[in-house]
Amino acid sequence: MSESSLSVECPCGSVMTHEELAPLVEVVQSHAKLNHNMDLTEEDVHNMASKR
Ligand SMILES: [Zn+2]
Repeated sequence: MSESSLSVECPCGSVMTHEELAPLVEVVQSHAKLNHNMDLTEEDVHNMASKR
């Protein structure tokens, strides 16, 4: 059961989800780096993340 997954929607339309925040931060950071050449801080990702 995963009733508390977190998700981040990138402005490019990609949606990344994970049940825990720490791994989600890594996924989003690497997505931003690879696809947008952006360095997001952990706090940036926290601010983008929404619970569902
Ligand atoms: Zn993106």
